[in-house]
Amino acid sequence: MPGIYVHIPFCRHKCSYCDFTSFPDKIEYAEAYMACLYKELKMRGEELKNYEFDTVYFGGGTPSYIPPKLILGAMNQIKACFRLKKDAEITLELNPGTIGEGKVKTYLEAGINRFSIGLQTAIDEQLSDLGRIHNARDYVYATKLLEGQNFSTDIMLGLKNQTKEDIAKTIELATRCGSKHISMYALTVEDGTPIYTDYLNGELPDSDEVADMYAFGKSLLEEKGYKRYEVSNFAIPGYESKHNWNYWKRGEYIGVGVSASSFMMGKRFTNTFDLDEYMKCVISGFFPAVTSEEVNEKDAKFEFVMLALRTARGLSMQEYKNTFGVGIGEDFPNALKKTVQYLELDGDFIKIKDEYLYVQNSVLMYFLEEGAE
Ligand code: SF4
Repeated sequence: MPGIYVHIPFCRHKCSYCDFTSFPDKIEYAEAYMACLYKELKMRGEELKNYEFDTVYFGGGTPSYIPPKLILGAMNQIKACFRLKKDAEITLELNPGTIGEGKVKTYLEAGINRFSIGLQTAIDEQLSDLGRIHNARDYVYATKLLEGQNFSTDIMLGLKNQTKEDIAKTIELATRCGSKHISMYALTVEDGTPIYTDYLNGELPDSDEVADMYAFGKSLLEEKGYKRYEVSNFAIPGYESKHNWNYWKRGEYIGVGVSASSFMMGKRFTNTFDLDEYMKCVISGFFPAVTSEEVNEKDAKFEFVMLALRTARGLSMQEYKNTFGVGIGEDFPNALKKTVQYLELDGDFIKIKDEYLYVQNSVLMYFLEEGAE
């Protein structure tokens, strides 16, 4: 079930924690950039004629910041250059501070059938600390515009001064407004971002406090009927993200746009992170990929394990055998032995026990070590 990822790198303002490829001061390049992106889509479409795609995902950056006609143009180009399944899931990331009635109308016309809204928190002071351009009322307004549509909400844990009560308010707001899917992530603090200073000053919750917030948020979401299907993702059954499932199943995807990554035909490759270089390259008729590597079998096996064990469903032993021709017990006997207290068997599936899924990295370490031997 291959997917198409489209990167839109423009934002109105840089958030204090952000280290994504996003440019807060280059919106005047949007038209020219999208013209290049249409060209890259055409070039990739010619190369991938035999594929039928199940999902499209517009991420960023802030896709809802650029003029909506450019999203419509990208969708027209995708439909013209790729074979897209009739019931394809087509998602657009949306910042509540950049949305209006006219935009939503154009997105629906373009065929967008799923929205992912970055709320992060319902507490306005925390939004302001994060450098977000919206407040909680903007989120409510955005969800009203999307009434009857399928949308997901991103929320964050581990913020400065965040309490469990704040998390409860945030979850209440998102569920009351009709979000069918909630992604609940712990804030990642990257060196070089403004929020790193708060981290150095000890102003952010420590990892035990964040784990506690996560357990609290998880049980609240479950009480409300949202089932965890991956460590950070919860959905009303039937509303899981197909695009992300494809990543966790180690499925193929093609990424277009500056900094976009792809995994096709056994190779992982990534486009340049430099906007000018991206545009020059595509205008000259070259693919803008700057790194490309063939994934060897050892790495492929570890990737398979790592991605599958992030999910609540777990790892299918049969799928592993069908993919690699040997059983997981033969490839990872020691890791399985050392982590046995964290794992459980459910028919054909090995999964991390519910209470340990949040700390899956410590379990995966054993597989990583054995995979490297
Ligand atoms: S909206 Fe997203 S991509 Fe843009 S600056 Fe904020 S975190 Fe980064």
